[in-house]
Amino acid sequence: MPLAGKELGKFRRQLLAWFARRRRDLPWRRTQDPGRIWLSEIMLQQTRVAAVIPYYERFVARFPDVRALAEAPEEEILRHWSGLGYYRRARNLQRAAREIMARHAGEFPRDFESALALPGIGRYTAAAILSIAYGAPHAVLDGNVARVLARLEALRGDLRAPRRWQGLQASADRLLERKHPGDWNQAMMELGATLCTPRAPDCAACPVARWCRARRLGLTETIPEKRRQRAPVKMHLAAAVFLDAQGRTLLLPPPRRVAAAETAGELSPLFSRMWHFPAVRAGENALRDLRSHLGKRFGKAAAAGAEIAAAKRVRHAVTYREITIAPFLLRVKKLPRPRGARALLLSELHTLPVSNLTRKIARAAAPARPE
Ligand code: SF4
Repeated sequence: MPLAGKELGKFRRQLLAWFARRRRDLPWRRTQDPGRIWLSEIMLQQTRVAAVIPYYERFVARFPDVRALAEAPEEEILRHWSGLGYYRRARNLQRAAREIMARHAGEFPRDFESALALPGIGRYTAAAILSIAYGAPHAVLDGNVARVLARLEALRGDLRAPRRWQGLQASADRLLERKHPGDWNQAMMELGATLCTPRAPDCAACPVARWCRARRLGLTETIPEKRRQRAPVKMHLAAAVFLDAQGRTLLLPPPRRVAAAETAGELSPLFSRMWHFPAVRAGENALRDLRSHLGKRFGKAAAAGAEIAAAKRVRHAVTYREITIAPFLLRVKKLPRPRGARALLLSELHTLPVSNLTRKIARAAAPARPE
């Protein structure tokens, strides 16, 4: 039976009172600026709060408003996003900022359909921004909220199945406290993030435990049902960290700047389409495969670079891919200079937008480097 009448009122008051007492003090909760709330929602997609905080603070210091975001070079935006992952978010953020400048006079749109039409904004993000920034009555539904709702209703089955997800959205809409939709949405998300966690929910501390069917039926550990994971695909790569006489290395540009075939080509998505070391798929003999690749790409001198020392292998996971990379530190008299490439010290890597994978390779290579 869905909650209604007085019970629904009590449920809402309990949750909001708990949120008022327990809300975490987060930088984006100290502002009503729609642009900053938007930025925080994008950064928080698939990323932990603790990881987001320093990025958010650096980002707003460098790009304080939508105009600054729209006018900055994309490379500058990616550099400030570097390490946070899922770089499409940063690219979409700038595309959306440009649309907001062009079509909405620099202000994040107030209506749902216009927000939804912006790059990188789905139903969840639109509802979160509009409710928190403008007090618009849209209920959010993300993984955290869906888990809370499924447990409250003791709902079985795959929550992401389209019908079930629609049903959960209808439940979220019904429960929404329309006078305080921003606080309400944040309270639901906070409950899912801090108490109603995927494993071992803390029901003893839960402000809405008395209305929870899963708790009553002893089903909190089995709801929601686990989703079947896609089997991981293993990949082995070898990467060249060149060092010339001045201690400089070589980074290749993102594929849009030059033809993909001149960069890591098919491997480029693994480096998030950012600056990267030369790399190739490798078999049993990774160094041989790498030399063969370097010879074809950059000529004999590069392929013959002397291996200085073996660096530790690097492991990295991108969605369903499990990547193992063998980085090789190669001494060369002169760095190859393919079109668009940059020569720089390993310590200057932060001056370019690079992915976490490239950072890991650099970190693995650094201890093997001679003074
Ligand atoms: S009682 Fe437990 S399972 Fe139910 S909503 Fe609260 S924390 Fe989640």
